[in-house]
Amino acid sequence: MSKIAIIGAGDVGTTIAYTIQLRGLVTEIVLVDINRELVQGQVMDLNHGLFFVRPVHIYAGTYADCTDADVIVITAGTRQKPGESRLQLLARNAQLCKWVVDKIEPHNSKGLFLIVTNPVDIMTQVVIKHSGLPKHRVIGSGTVLDSARFRYFLSRNCRVDTRNIHAYVIGEHGDSEVILWSQVHISGTPLDIFCKQCAVACNATLNKNKIAEAVRHSAYHIIEAKGATNYGISLAVRRILEAIIRDEHSVLTVSTWLSGQYGLSDICLSVPCIINRTGVAQVIETPLAKSEEASLVNSAKLLRNARREMDN
Ligand code: NAD
Repeated sequence: MSKIAIIGAGDVGTTIAYTIQLRGLVTEIVLVDINRELVQGQVMDLNHGLFFVRPVHIYAGTYADCTDADVIVITAGTRQKPGESRLQLLARNAQLCKWVVDKIEPHNSKGLFLIVTNPVDIMTQVVIKHSGLPKHRVIGSGTVLDSARFRYFLSRNCRVDTRNIHAYVIGEHGDSEVILWSQVHISGTPLDIFCKQCAVACNATLNKNKIAEAVRHSAYHIIEAKGATNYGISLAVRRILEAIIRDEHSVLTVSTWLSGQYGLSDICLSVPCIINRTGVAQVIETPLAKSEEASLVNSAKLLRNARREMDN
């Protein structure tokens, strides 16, 4: 028996439920939303596909139904409008996350919290502080999606299967995110060495700039075109849920509370972490290039300033 609770049955929450349903990851999914009509409609629609997947009990519930969930996923909140940054959602969504935490009564819950609501790094920190839960039990989806986008663009550029590319984005899930070029390798071969052997004579430096732009601004381009992002993030969340539910000890760039790692404390941002049933089992301190180190410090500074402004 395993159960996932999803708070917020909008585009992201419902697509997460759908991807979990397709995978047959859990036996119970409860969706909670202040808009009762919407959540009931979403649940009816999901249930009508049950004939085609493994049995799973999907229902529209209340906050009381979250207590025995293995993971509570928070997606409730305002999303970006075209041209709006994630940090501009801060004050509204922080209040909402606190309200949701109070409703769930975390001290009575057995599960982990997985935060998706933006700006996700600060929301993760808000939930940790407000809930009083051990820090490893509250995880932000962080840059798992950005790392996947980075791999996708590299895959297209280098004409190699995405699954053979190892590449990470760390820091803020937002404009100041840090793209780790120094870490990129293609099945063990560092990118620079791969490029020397590659038959396609691409202009690597020019393409690096293009790739970085595409990764960093993906959400803006998608929101401009269709109003919201939901598929990529839902698969990223499913990947994190899988690592938790199946106790996989997988390395994922989730947003987590740092206490001294990378020289940073008292802040949540994304770095490679080992994820298992207990949540964040370990933060990995990967060696960074000097410029990447400086960008990570800048990302932390930016988040700290945004949080300070919110507190004042
Ligand atoms: P949406 O507007 O489609 O859905 C939000 C839902 O939250 C709505 O159905 C609304 O009724 C519900 N809601 C509002 N207040 C609530 C409350 N108090 N309790 C329960 N439900 C409540 O928005 P969306 O596109 O699903 O996006 C949701 C959030 O996810 C946004 O903050 C968005 O920025 C974020 N997001 C994060 C990532 C990421 O990578 N972390 C990616 C995409 C979207």
